[in-house]
Amino acid sequence: MKTATIEATTNQYDGLEPLIYELSAAGRIGVNLPEPDVPLSDLPADLLRDDLNLPEVSENEVVRHFVRLSQFNHAIDTGFYPLGSCTMKYNPKINEDAARLTGFAHLHPLTDVEGAQGALALMYQLQEWLAEISGFAGVSLTPAAGAQGEFAGILMIRKYHVDRGDTQRTKILVPDSAHGTNPATVTMAGMQVIELPSDKEGNVDLEALREACAGEKAASIAGMMITVPSTLGLFDRNILPIVQTVHDAGGLMYMDGANMNALMGVVKPGELGFDVMHYNLHKTFSTPHGGGGPGSGVIGVAQRLMDYRPGPIVDIIEEAAGDHDAPLYGWTQPPKTIGRLKAFHGNYGMHVRAYAYIRVYGGTGLNDVTRHAVLNANYLRARLKDHYKLPYPRICGHEFVMEGRFADSDVRALDISKRLMDYGIHPPTNYFPLIVPEALLIEPTETETKQTLDRFVDVMISIAGEARENPDILHDAPHNTPVRRLDEVKAAKQLVLCCAPLMKQVD
Ligand SMILES: *Cc1c(COP(=O)(O)O)cnc(C)c1O
Repeated sequence: MKTATIEATTNQYDGLEPLIYELSAAGRIGVNLPEPDVPLSDLPADLLRDDLNLPEVSENEVVRHFVRLSQFNHAIDTGFYPLGSCTMKYNPKINEDAARLTGFAHLHPLTDVEGAQGALALMYQLQEWLAEISGFAGVSLTPAAGAQGEFAGILMIRKYHVDRGDTQRTKILVPDSAHGTNPATVTMAGMQVIELPSDKEGNVDLEALREACAGEKAASIAGMMITVPSTLGLFDRNILPIVQTVHDAGGLMYMDGANMNALMGVVKPGELGFDVMHYNLHKTFSTPHGGGGPGSGVIGVAQRLMDYRPGPIVDIIEEAAGDHDAPLYGWTQPPKTIGRLKAFHGNYGMHVRAYAYIRVYGGTGLNDVTRHAVLNANYLRARLKDHYKLPYPRICGHEFVMEGRFADSDVRALDISKRLMDYGIHPPTNYFPLIVPEALLIEPTETETKQTLDRFVDVMISIAGEARENPDILHDAPHNTPVRRLDEVKAAKQLVLCCAPLMKQVD
C-alpha cells in the first residue's frame, strides 16, 4: 500500500525560538564599532526618538531571526509548487549570476548608446528570438508584467481602429475560461467586455461567438482576447475558425500567451493568425517570481500592429561594415506608438535571464521544455482521474483542472489545499477558473522528477481517503505550518509589517 508510507512532515516549528523582541536585553549589541578618530558631536535632539522600542540583540540572534523568517515561506527551492497558471518552475541559478554581472546590473539607463552596445545587442537578439518563437513580425520588450502587456495590446488594437476612423469598435470578446486579468485589462483600457460561454468540451462556444459577431453587431467588435491554452489547460480545438470569425467581423485577435511553455516549438501564435500576444518572461523563460516581481510581459505583434508598439525598440542603426565588424544598435520609437509604458527600457535584468535561458536551451531544448511540461501534466491527470472529478476529461496542455469536492464528503477544495501544506507541498490554484466548482488548477511544470510527481499523487490519493474517513483532519489543516488558517483578504487589505510590540509603541 503506497499511501501507508506517506507521512506529513513533522512540525519543524515546534518549540519555535522566541521572537526577536523577546530576546532583547539592554546593552546587547550586534556591531563592534572602532574608536572614532574624529571629534564627537551631538546628534540633533529634535530628530532623535527615544520611544522606539528597538530590540537589542547580538549578530547571531539577528541572523537566526531573518533566516528563520525566510523559512516560513514555501518556495520552489524548498518544495513542489504546482500553482496552476503561474508556472512555478525551477529557475536556473546561472541566470541569476548572469543578471548580476556588473556590466549588466550597474549599467546606467541613461548611458548613451555607444556605451551600451553590449546590452543593446542582447536586447536585439532577445527581440529576434521571441519573434521567431511565436511567429510574429516584431516584439516590444518594455511591458513590466503580463497584465501590462495585455494593457498595451488592447491600447494598440484601439488605436489601430481609431486611426482607420473605426471609432465605434469598442467591444472586446472574452471567453469565460480567460485569465482574470483579461476582462480587467479590457475595462482598464476603456473598452467593454462581451463574455462568451464555453461549450461542454471546454472550447469557446462557436455558435455564441458567431452570434456575437453577426450582422450589425460586427461593426462594434474591436477584437477578442483569448487565453491559449485556456485556464482549463486546454487548447481550443476551434482556434482557426475563432480567429477567422473575429477577423471577418473586422476585429483583431489578442492571445494571452502567458503560458507559452505549453506551445514552444509546437505552435506559433502568429501563424494561427493572432495580431498581438504577450509572453510572461518570468514564467516561460524563467525568473523567480513567487514574491510578486519583477516581471516582464513582452508583447509580440503581427505586421499591421508593428508601428503601434510601445517603445523604445532596439534596432540596427548602422549595419556592420568596414572598420566596425559589429552592427551599431540604437533606440527607435515606432511612428504610431501608443507611447511609453515604463521608465527606460523595461525590466532589463529579466531580459538577461530570458536571453540566458533561450541561449542555453536552444530551439530543440525549448521544444523539450514544452513536451515535458505537457507530459508531466498529463501524467498527473491520468493518475488522479479515478480519485477526483475531472470536468473536462481530455488531453491537456501544461496544466489541468479537477474538482476539489466529493459526493460523500463535505470537504472543499480549500481543505484539500490546506492539507497539502502539511506535506510540504504548495497548494494548486484554488477556485479558478471560475467555471469549475471547487476548482483545483494543477501545473506541475517540466522541471519536476517522476518521484516528485508520484509523491504528489500518493498524497492526493491519501487526502481523498481522509476526506471520507476523517474529514476533520482536512477541515483543521494545516497542522504543521508556523501559522494555521489565515484571513487572506484581511491579510492583504490590512497589511501589518511590524511586530506587535513595536506596533503598540507606534499606536
Ligand atoms: C500570470 C498570467 C497573467 C498575468 O501575468 P502577470 O505577470 O502576473 O501580470 C495573465 N494571463 C495568464 C494566463 C497568466 O497565467
